[in-house]
Amino acid sequence: MDGYKVAVVGGGLAGLCAAQALHASGIDVVVIEARDRLGGRILTTDEEGAPSDDGFDLGPSWFWPNMQPAMASLVEDLSLQSFAQNSTGDIVFERMSREQPQRYSPTMENQQSMRIAGGTGAAVRALAGKLPGDRILLRTKVTAITLSETGVELTVQTDGGGSATLPASYVVAALPPRLLEATVSFAPPQDPAIAARWRSTPTWMAPHAKFFAVYDRPFWRADGLAGTAQSMVGPMVEIHDATTSSGKAALFGFLGVGAEQRASLGEDLLKQACVKQLGRFFGPEALSPRATLLKDWAADPLTATAADATGGDHPAPGSPDWVSVQWNDRLILAGSETSDTEPGYLAGAVEAANRAAARILSHLKKP
Ligand SMILES: Cc1cc2nc3c(=O)[nH]c(=O)nc-3n(C[C@H](O)[C@H](O)[C@H](O)COP(=O)(O)OP(=O)(O)OC[C@H]3O[C@@H](n4cnc5c(N)ncnc54)[C@H](O)[C@@H]3O)c2cc1C
Repeated sequence: MDGYKVAVVGGGLAGLCAAQALHASGIDVVVIEARDRLGGRILTTDEEGAPSDDGFDLGPSWFWPNMQPAMASLVEDLSLQSFAQNSTGDIVFERMSREQPQRYSPTMENQQSMRIAGGTGAAVRALAGKLPGDRILLRTKVTAITLSETGVELTVQTDGGGSATLPASYVVAALPPRLLEATVSFAPPQDPAIAARWRSTPTWMAPHAKFFAVYDRPFWRADGLAGTAQSMVGPMVEIHDATTSSGKAALFGFLGVGAEQRASLGEDLLKQACVKQLGRFFGPEALSPRATLLKDWAADPLTATAADATGGDHPAPGSPDWVSVQWNDRLILAGSETSDTEPGYLAGAVEAANRAAARILSHLKKP
C-alpha cells in the first residue's frame, strides 16, 4: 500500500479532534491507539469500572465554557448536553485530625464548572462516530517513527505481539510530550534540546488518583451539603458531588497521598480509608457505598512515566517549536500539553488538535 496521508498517534481527545478535522476535509487519516479503548485520559465507567454511556468520570469531569471557547464550541458542534457541577449547599472543611470537620456556607462565587451529560466519554464517542471504523486501530502501539523519502514510517506493535511498519505522509503525535519522549524512538533523533523540552513538560494530572463512592441516593443534598469538601488530613484532599445527569448518586475525591505511597498501600486499604473519610464528612450513610472505584493515573503506563510519580506542575505555554528542524515538515505534536492557550486541559487538547490539522491542511495546499 502507498500509506496513509496522515497517521495520528493517540486516540485521546486531541487525536480524535485532529483526525475528525482532517477526515472532514477529505484527508485519508488513521488513528493509532495503544489501548483497547479510545479516550486516553478521558474515561467514563459504570460502577463496575466498565466503559459506560452514562457513568462516572475517572479522568476529566469539568470544562469552563466562558474561559474555554474551543471546548465550548466542541460541545456545541457535537450536540452534547452539559449541566452544572452541583455546588448548592454547605461545604465541609477538615483542618486537622483531632478536630471535627467544620461546615461552612460558601462565600465566594467560583467560575461555574460544567459537566457533559453521560460523562466526558460522550465527546469521545461522538468524535469516533465521525470517523470510518477501519481508520481507527486499537491495541496498536507506535514504538518508532522514521523519516523516509516520501514522509514517515511508523513501527507499531499489536496486542498479539506482532509488529508492522505503516507508511504515512505526515504524523500527528497526539500524546503527552513526556510520554512520547520516553516510549517512542525517532530516526533521525530529535535534537537534545527538543527531547529535553518533551521530557520536562509535565503531563497534567498524571500524578493523581481519583476515588468514587456510589450510593443509592445523594443523601448529603438532603442534609444541605453540596458534597464539596476540603481536607488537610486526607487521604482525599478535595471532594465533590459526582452524581450523574441521570441521577446516579456518587461522591468523588482526589487523593492527597503520593503515587509511591499509593502503590505501597494498595487499592483495598486506600479505598477503606477514603470511605472512612466520607463517613467523617457526610455521616453514617456515607460509610456504606454500593460500589467504589479507584483510578490511579500515575500507575497507567499509557499516561504517566516514572517522572510523573512526583510533581504535578501545570505545563506552561511556551515557544511553538516542539520538533527538531529536520522533522518540521512531517511531525506535528498535538497533545493537550502542547496547546498555546490551555495546556493540560481538555480545551488545550481541542486547541492543539485544531492547530495541527490546520498546519497539515496548509502544507497540503502548497504546490
Ligand atoms: C484525573 C484527571 C482529571 C482531569 N480533570 C480535568 C478537568 O476536569 N478538566 C480538564 O479540562 N482537564 C482535565 N484533565 C486533563 C484532560 O484529561 C487532558 O487534558 C486531556 O484528556 C488530554 O487529551 P490528549 O488527547 O491530549 O491526551 P491523552 O488523553 O493522554 O491521549 C493520549 C493517547 O495516546 C495513547 N498512546 C500513548 N502512547 C501511545 C503509543 N506509543 N502508540 C499509540 N497510542 C499511544 C494513549 O493510550 C491515549 O489514548 C484531567 C486529567 C486527569 C487524569
